[in-house]
Amino acid sequence: MTDEIKKKADTVIASTYARFPMVMERGEGCRLWDTEGNEYIDFVSGIAVCNLGHAHPAVVKALSKQAEILFHVSNLYYTIPQVDLAEWLVNHSFADRAFFCNSGAEANEAAIKLARKYFSDKGEKERKVIIAMEKSFHGRTMATLSATGQDKIKKGFDPILQGFDFVPFKDIEALREKITSSTCAVLMEPVQGEGGVRCPAPEYIKEVRDLCDETGILLIFDEIQTGIGRTGKLFAYEHFDMEPDIMTLAKALANGLPIGTMLAKEEIAASFTPGSHASTFGGTPVVTAAALEVMRYMEKENVIGNCQEMGDYFLEKLLVLKEKHKVIQDVRGFGLLLGIKLNTDGKPYVDKCIEKGFLINCIQDTILRFIPPLIVGKEEIDALVMCLDEVLG
Ligand SMILES: *Cc1c(COP(=O)(O)O)cnc(C)c1O
Repeated sequence: MTDEIKKKADTVIASTYARFPMVMERGEGCRLWDTEGNEYIDFVSGIAVCNLGHAHPAVVKALSKQAEILFHVSNLYYTIPQVDLAEWLVNHSFADRAFFCNSGAEANEAAIKLARKYFSDKGEKERKVIIAMEKSFHGRTMATLSATGQDKIKKGFDPILQGFDFVPFKDIEALREKITSSTCAVLMEPVQGEGGVRCPAPEYIKEVRDLCDETGILLIFDEIQTGIGRTGKLFAYEHFDMEPDIMTLAKALANGLPIGTMLAKEEIAASFTPGSHASTFGGTPVVTAAALEVMRYMEKENVIGNCQEMGDYFLEKLLVLKEKHKVIQDVRGFGLLLGIKLNTDGKPYVDKCIEKGFLINCIQDTILRFIPPLIVGKEEIDALVMCLDEVLG
C-alpha cells in the first residue's frame, strides 16, 4: 500500500519537495506513525507548526465544536472566534490590530503592503524600499521571495520585484549605510530560522530599533517561525527589550490549521481601510477557534515555561555532544529552536536518525535543526541525544 501511494504521488503531485520515503498516517503528542506502523519521535513538528504536538485533544475539541456551528462566512460579517483571537493577540503583544490571512507568505505580503501604504498615506510617496537581511526567508510568493535574501529561492523567477535592498544580518553599520530617503521599513526575522538558526546579539536588535526610530522608518519582525512560544517567550522580540511596529505570525498559531496574521500598532494599521487589502478565508471561524484554544491552552498549562526548561536542557546536552564529536562546529538557538552546524553534509545524519525512529531536519545543507513540539519532555530529548551520539560517532 505504501509503495503504491508513493508511486502515485510521484505522478500526480507537483515535485516541489524532495520527500522522505514515509507515508505518515497518524500522530499523537510528539509521536508519529507511518503506514507501515513505524513509530517516530518528532523533532520537526511539521516545520515548527505543531507546538502542542499532534492531534492535541483540546484543539481537536475546539475545532470540532466550531465546525458543527459555522465553517465560513467571509469577512463581510463579524464572527466571534476571530474577534476573540484578535483580542487575545492584541492583549498579549505590542500591537493594537490584527489582519488575518492563511499563511506566512501572505502575512508578510500584508506587512509589505501596509508599510508602503502607511508612508503613501503620509504623503511620503518616495518611501517604498524595504531593507531585508541576507540569508533571510520570508516566503515563496513573488513579493516575499523578492524580500528573501537567498539566491536559490529566486532562481528562474525573474523579473524579481523591485523595492527590496539587502544587508548582512547582524551588521548594524551596513544597515545604517543602506537607509536612504526611499527606505520605508526594515524587514527581518529576530532569529533567522531557515537561514540556519542564526541568532543575533541583543545589542544588535536594539540598535536596529534605534536606527529605525532615528530615521523614521518602520521595523517589521517576521516571527512566523520564532513566534508562539518557540524561542521560550511568546514572541522572540520579548528577549530583546524592544518592540517592532509590525509583526507577522503563521506556522504554530493554530497548531496545524492554515493561518497567518499581521499585527500592527494602531497608527500604522489605520492605513488599511475597507477595500485596501483582503482575504476570503482569512480568520475563518474553525481556524480561529482552534488558534484561540492553542493560545489559551499554552497560557493555562505554561507550555512556554516547558519550552524554556526543555530548551535549556536540550542545549546543554547538545553542547556536551559538541565536546565529543569533532563533526559539530557550532551549537546555537533560543528555546526549542535549536541547531547544530556540522563541518559536513547533514542529510546522511537525518536519514540515519529516521532509521532509528527520529525525525530531524537539515537546513542550508550542513545545519541540523531541532524544532520539537513545545510539550516535549526530557525522555524524548534524552532518546534523541543518544541517537545523535551514535550517528555522529
Ligand atoms: C515558514 C516561514 C515563512 C513562510 O510561511 P508559509 O506559511 O510557508 O508561507 C515566512 N517567514 C518565515 C520566517 C518562515 O519561517
